[in-house]
Amino acid sequence: MNYLSTRGHADRKRFCEILLEGLAPDGGLYLPETYPQVDTATLAKWRTLPYAELAFEILSLYIDDIPAADLKAICAKTYTAEVFGTDEIVPLRELEDGVYLEALSNGPTLAFKDMAMQLLGNLFEYELARRGAELNILGATSGDTGSAAEYAMRGKKGVRVFMTSPDGRMSPFQQAQMFSLQDANIHNIAITGVFDDCQDIVKAVSNDLGFKRKYRIGTVNSINWARLLAQVVYYFAGYFQATASNDKPVSFTVPSGNFGNVCAGHVARMMGLPIQTLVVATNENDVLDEFFRTGVYRVRAAVDTHETSSPSMDISKASNFERFVFDLVGRDADRLRQLFVDDLGLTGSFDLSADPAFQLAAERFGFRSGRSTHADRLAMIRDTEKRFATLIDPHTADGLKAAREQLTPGVPMVVLETALPIKFAATVVEALGEEPARPKKFEGIEALPKRVVQLPADAEAVKAYIAQHCD
Ligand SMILES: *Cc1c(COP(=O)(O)O)cnc(C)c1O
Repeated sequence: MNYLSTRGHADRKRFCEILLEGLAPDGGLYLPETYPQVDTATLAKWRTLPYAELAFEILSLYIDDIPAADLKAICAKTYTAEVFGTDEIVPLRELEDGVYLEALSNGPTLAFKDMAMQLLGNLFEYELARRGAELNILGATSGDTGSAAEYAMRGKKGVRVFMTSPDGRMSPFQQAQMFSLQDANIHNIAITGVFDDCQDIVKAVSNDLGFKRKYRIGTVNSINWARLLAQVVYYFAGYFQATASNDKPVSFTVPSGNFGNVCAGHVARMMGLPIQTLVVATNENDVLDEFFRTGVYRVRAAVDTHETSSPSMDISKASNFERFVFDLVGRDADRLRQLFVDDLGLTGSFDLSADPAFQLAAERFGFRSGRSTHADRLAMIRDTEKRFATLIDPHTADGLKAAREQLTPGVPMVVLETALPIKFAATVVEALGEEPARPKKFEGIEALPKRVVQLPADAEAVKAYIAQHCD
């Protein structure tokens, strides 16, 4: 399997080459040259596989530069009941007739990002050992991504994590999750400033090519193809749990921000998994809902990006969206560049409303969308607690609201649960007047010793800190 760039660069690469890379050299995103097709006989064979073996089967269609036995061992080591809480790994729960929640949030940090990041940690350790290389991951987080990355990389050989976060701006639970890690290879850096300052620092350090090379700086952001690939697996696992045979269609609703999660659903559908509809759920930051309603993709300025009660979906542009648009325009790299480089660069938007390709988003690719508000989330959390005795988090509430607007009789609708309510307790308390239950392993974490340094919002200070901690 070879990988190409959405922007038409001539190079073709193998999986392990793009594993440790971010963007392609021309600024595009990597995609496989073709989507491997899964026929009904294969689906029948996969239906009864344990999750780790299913992951191995799917990953091996895309990874041909890791020996099969090694890849199998990596999957087996990653997807265990010990790490994810159950043998099913992603158990499905029926809420009401035909509406299901797929639990993706029982990993170490209680959000779905663990599903991919835990695999990435093991792939990184494997590949770095094979090359005799080291990697220093520099990131910026306002919560979920940073903690998932730290829990995936802690104690891993060859990897250090330097994670910046805005000082005092994460929830106490999220702070405690990250700062209580005592592993020598994990560095928490609290920046005096806001999340944008942290992102600017990461950009400034990455743009210093001399520094980047010398200190082998890398990232784990959501455009990494390996993360997306790991997420394809739970669409298959959810499908098998929601159906008794492989001729039945299923729809999925996905609380969306950077379009990574739902893009994995798109890949599963392109492989031939019988997915009828993929519903993109957004909050008040409705860049994606606007596109699927109107054909206009309009990135937002920082001032137009709302701080909401589903903060992991507060995006101004969706960094994985380019992958889907590439397929939408028939994999025409010239057209893609016109949209994402020329139009977006010039006007901050592009308009496909008059392009026949836009009709295909719904008709051929099965996309629908929905949007919710703070009041919708509160109502959805209350309703779900009252009618089904089930607590959901605000992001999953955005999903459930959009899902209910897109139901088709006879077609199961699977809503992806992207975080546990305890991570966003303040909103759950606002909705229900009570604290969500906390898994045992997190009891009292706020009182644990914290490992964090404070630095000013200054890239030079962060560089000096990295240099000092790299031998
Ligand atoms: C990251 C995240 C999302 C958004 O996922 P994307 O892959 O960026 O679309 C939704 N909900 C939660 C809880 C998240 O952490």
